[in-house]
Amino acid sequence: MRHLSHAYIDGAFVPVQGSEVVDIVNPATEACIGTVTLGNRDDVRRAIAAAQRAQPAFGRSTKEERIDMLRRLEAAVLARTDEIREATIEEYGGPLSRAQWVADYASQCFANAVKTLEAYAFTRSVGEATVVMEPVGVAALMTPWNSTAGSICNKLASALAAGCACVMKPSELSPIQTQVIAEAIHDAGLPPGVVNIVNGRGADVGSEISTHPGIAKISFTGSTPTGKAILRAGAETMKRVSLALTGKSATLILEDADLAQAIPLALSAGFLNSGQACIAGTRILMPRARLAEAIEHVKTTVEGLIVGDPRDPQTLIGPLVNQAQYDRIQRFIRSGLEEGATLVAGGEGRPAHLARGYFVKPTVFADVRNDMQIAREEIFGPVLCLLAYDDEEEAVRIANDSPYGLQAYVFSSDAGRARRVAERLEAGGVMVNAIRPALTAPFGGVKQSGLGREYGVFGLEAFLEPKTIVSA
Ligand code: NAD
Repeated sequence: MRHLSHAYIDGAFVPVQGSEVVDIVNPATEACIGTVTLGNRDDVRRAIAAAQRAQPAFGRSTKEERIDMLRRLEAAVLARTDEIREATIEEYGGPLSRAQWVADYASQCFANAVKTLEAYAFTRSVGEATVVMEPVGVAALMTPWNSTAGSICNKLASALAAGCACVMKPSELSPIQTQVIAEAIHDAGLPPGVVNIVNGRGADVGSEISTHPGIAKISFTGSTPTGKAILRAGAETMKRVSLALTGKSATLILEDADLAQAIPLALSAGFLNSGQACIAGTRILMPRARLAEAIEHVKTTVEGLIVGDPRDPQTLIGPLVNQAQYDRIQRFIRSGLEEGATLVAGGEGRPAHLARGYFVKPTVFADVRNDMQIAREEIFGPVLCLLAYDDEEEAVRIANDSPYGLQAYVFSSDAGRARRVAERLEAGGVMVNAIRPALTAPFGGVKQSGLGREYGVFGLEAFLEPKTIVSA
């Protein structure tokens, strides 16, 4: 049992002043594995004050000094890779391979930031002016629960590379994963106040951050409604805001695709991270003429998917994070049935072989129209929609008929054609015949999937502001 009751402020773990104690539950077993005492507004105000004290000196640090700090962070996080993986499995229910990926990615974020920083020119000439890229000021980093170590480390690496002291508010649902990262950050020995971490609820800690005049920049990952609330709250003090939000990604399988390859890949993209992924390809668009064939491939592939113990290396789909998510997914499955979609695989309830845990059946609906709730809203569980189209024009139109535009997928045996279709999709990114994240290329969404980009130089510049100097 872990009892977590400290925030990380000004270089030290300090008891939180908040008093709300929440159980931490292993979602695969439903066993209570610990408690977390959540921070409150006073805790986060102390964290912001510490970051404000650290900002002037840290903002003036040299590129070499920041590279050195990032390398120390990389080493400290790398040393805790196994702990991150274990916490991701135990607290979140991440299947082993996914948990290992997140754990490896966490330290890689700092290595990537070093490379970006080494190549980055903070000063450049534009016309007759000299333009200096300066840190924007104290940055708040707020993250969701579905990829905790990765989200924290990615944002932290970019913010520190830019010279911004940070206040982090990770999800209240991932305190053990956060604690492991916090201990690694402490081991890296950064100057006090450069990184501060407070667990807490969005309604008080998150809201305090969104309105506090000491915060210059917010980098947020989470749902679109929360992103909008943060944007509105930050407007009064004109915070710079980057938002990585909800996805409802389309996967276009073109009529020349080899279905034996494309369907398993499309389902992997849809069931990514047990379906709890913003980039999950959850609307699979199939040529009507090949629908029956596709459904057979879907049935065979889903039958072969192993759902269960996240520690088993064979498992592809683990539990959902908590009871609330389980209930939410069941509601979506019922809504699909009520609106007339046809079940191809899965359905309501827990898989028969699992007696406990927040497991749902990997579910695929056919006969889905793009105006059904299951096609419009992000489900955030392993529930996918098959939609039929008659020609490429219609496929592109259906794909783009969404308030969201984060990540799309195209499968075709003609690379040139797939590329042309990819260029017509309204999405921040498109993967063609592959599921392979590009971790230094810009990542983010168009439309209501977000604002701004993360990763690499785009991620760095999200924490910088240009100053133009013109001399006589
Ligand atoms: P959420 O929006 O409920 O919460 C995210 C974070 O915001 C949490 O730390 C939460 O405590 C905080 N928060 C909640 N209300 C707040 C408020 N009023 N002010 C400030 N902070 C507040 O999202 P979630 O359920 O934790 O995560 C799932 C969502 O995140 C999905 O919509 C998913 O698509 C999205 N997501 C997006 C990306 C991306 O890169 N685009 C990546 C991962 C997850």
